[in-house]
Amino acid sequence: MHVTAIIAAAGSGSRMGSALPKQFLEVGGLSILQRTLNAFYEAERITDMVVVTRPQAVEEVWRFIKPLKQMVVVAGGETRQESVALGFAHVPFKADYVIVHDAARPFVTPAVIHRTLDAAIESGAAIAAVPSRDTVKEVTTVGGRRFVSRTVPRDEIYLAQTPQAFRRDILAQAIELGKRGAVATDESALAELAGRQVRLVEGDPCNLKVTTESDLAFARGIIGEIGASLIRTGTGYDLHRLVLDRPLILGGVRIESDRGALGHSDADVACHAVTDAILGAAGQGDIGELFPDTDPQWKDAPSLDLLRSAVARVREHGFAVENVDVVIVLERPKLAPYRRRIEGNIANALGVDVTRVSVKAKTNEGVDAIGRGEAIAAHAVALVRRVAPGRQMIDPGSTAH
Ligand code: MG
Repeated sequence: MHVTAIIAAAGSGSRMGSALPKQFLEVGGLSILQRTLNAFYEAERITDMVVVTRPQAVEEVWRFIKPLKQMVVVAGGETRQESVALGFAHVPFKADYVIVHDAARPFVTPAVIHRTLDAAIESGAAIAAVPSRDTVKEVTTVGGRRFVSRTVPRDEIYLAQTPQAFRRDILAQAIELGKRGAVATDESALAELAGRQVRLVEGDPCNLKVTTESDLAFARGIIGEIGASLIRTGTGYDLHRLVLDRPLILGGVRIESDRGALGHSDADVACHAVTDAILGAAGQGDIGELFPDTDPQWKDAPSLDLLRSAVARVREHGFAVENVDVVIVLERPKLAPYRRRIEGNIANALGVDVTRVSVKAKTNEGVDAIGRGEAIAAHAVALVRRVAPGRQMIDPGSTAH
């Protein structure tokens, strides 16, 4: 499935009182645009992106583009509606779904992006929205003073956010309507005007739109508040006995050796230590709990597969792996010739770039069981970062309507 994201970044920041367009202002050391793009780089189901910006900012925007996905930067128009239409003209013809997102919402998460996409796949069109927490009043103005004319039942009021996801033909129809003169503040409204049903999914209260100076202060506050709790570390340790006539597997790589590690699975100490480190960092138990050695399913199982399922669990709980450092303690053979392959395999299972995985080898200088060649051990440290609220906080299956 081909999914293209249109990032609307053509706002001038006129309400910000700043000479710099708002998407270039920094929140916690990163520009608003960079934070937004990062969320879409991380959302693995997004195939490519079209960034729409002001004509004079096209070159500046390229500075924030990483070659992680296919990217196009195009000049927008006078209004947001016009800009999205100009962006849509650059959406590849083979795109099945198109997601529109405001660059000014830098706290969007891959979870919200995927949730919106899933609902669009099911229902054709979907937007992220949050229920109104405040009571809503309709007002009339009399003599320059506002008076309540009606109290709107709050449980029917939702506040629209982006992302907004559409089957390609539905968005094409909505944009066509806009070109013929319909005016709306978002693409959902145009799709509604076109007679399409638009589904709501749970947005994120933190997915705020940074429009005014007070929004910017609030956004910087959020980063300050959650910055410390975004990062967590975990440690893992494993040891297996070495016996004759068993293969020695480390990070999924077969090591040439007269002996191998004894265990229920393939006894890959490097994978086991890394698995425990990432589970520990995310507070998700340990390898013995997830893959009990009493369960025949894991007999001789490749430990890279165990690691992959641990990564999936950690992701489900809203964490992404930042980096992992491993020390393997083994008397012989020398691991230097295998090191890069071990790092590559572990990085692959973690779904991160190989530069984020380090594997080192040590001997125990002939001391103790490891030193006598009777055992092999591994230590690992992992750093994870919270990227989404996690399953225990928001049920991703729940929809607002
Ligand atoms: Mg083990």
